[in-house]
Amino acid sequence: MNIYGFTREKLSSYFESIGEKSFKAVQVIEWLYQKNVSSFDEMTNIKKEIREQLKKEFTFSLPEIIKKETGKDVIKYLFLLSDGEKIEAVLMKHDYGLSICVSSQVGCNMGCKFCESGRLKKVRNLQVEEMVGQIVQIKNDIKETIHSVVIMGIGEPFDNYENVMDFIFILNDAKGLSIGARHITVSTCGIVPKIKEFMNFPLQINLALSLHAPNDTLRSELMPINKAYPLKDVINAIKEYIQVTNRRVTIEYILLKEVNDSISHAKELAKLLRGMNVYVNLIPYNETNHLEYKRSEKKNIDAFYDTLKKEKMEVTVRREFGGTISAACGQLRSKEL
Ligand code: SAH
Repeated sequence: MNIYGFTREKLSSYFESIGEKSFKAVQVIEWLYQKNVSSFDEMTNIKKEIREQLKKEFTFSLPEIIKKETGKDVIKYLFLLSDGEKIEAVLMKHDYGLSICVSSQVGCNMGCKFCESGRLKKVRNLQVEEMVGQIVQIKNDIKETIHSVVIMGIGEPFDNYENVMDFIFILNDAKGLSIGARHITVSTCGIVPKIKEFMNFPLQINLALSLHAPNDTLRSELMPINKAYPLKDVINAIKEYIQVTNRRVTIEYILLKEVNDSISHAKELAKLLRGMNVYVNLIPYNETNHLEYKRSEKKNIDAFYDTLKKEKMEVTVRREFGGTISAACGQLRSKEL
């Protein structure tokens, strides 16, 4: 068993199962994430005989950083996993602090036409410790406080639901990585049953929906998942989510030249989202090997933005990181393979 895969709750049950007090879980978690130790021998407030037993049960292995690319306000990390698979994570420096974008799967099965990660089919889900490990290793590397975490790297987090939720518990644990729930965002392409399940998740995490098109025809063309969960169902699930959680949802919308970036698309989008507690994050497309998709021109991005503003939508254009170091959205791993 890998110690980084254990939430406080699961570690407490483990200690109870060996006849120990459950608060030992809190001590171990503090050692791991606040004092940054990586062996039981360093956990001096735990009795030697228990430490010996723990040593037999748990490993401390973490994904290994095998490549780093640095750009302005961004570092891209390539990790090697214990079975030889590779994943990536990105560290970004915002004016409010550092944020990390983590991967949730090796590859992805959602098949979005414009996305680099989806070209390489899903090999497997990431284990909890492999998601935690991306954060721990980047923290070890830069030795600075992390402000926020976005689960928007390679993979569809809601296609690895249980592990992602445990990862979020460890991120948010005040004695663990201690990232505030409002500083954690999970992004989905729109898996409706999981959006519904997520409504009842006990922590106040941010939800982002990758929408990318304002109607079914276009969305199904870009995102095959739309055939399984069409727009009406996704929007209804998001409405219900907002109602149940009372939280604002982020709508991500990539701007693809002459595909979904016209004024009439903007108006259609505004109409679709009218009255919902959402804000729209416009994403200038990072061009990839999908040569059929190009980034919208600046004037079209501006016009799209202005149209949504006029329609009284809350909207921002995403700041870009890493485009020049081919470090955006799955490109490092794909280049490496
Ligand atoms: N599967 C999840 C999370 C991973 S993708 C999801 O779909 O939301 C994170 C975001 O990056 C998504 O909005 C995705 O559509 C977007 N994205 C993928 N490729 C991109 C590219 N080349 N340029 C800009 N954004 C991209």
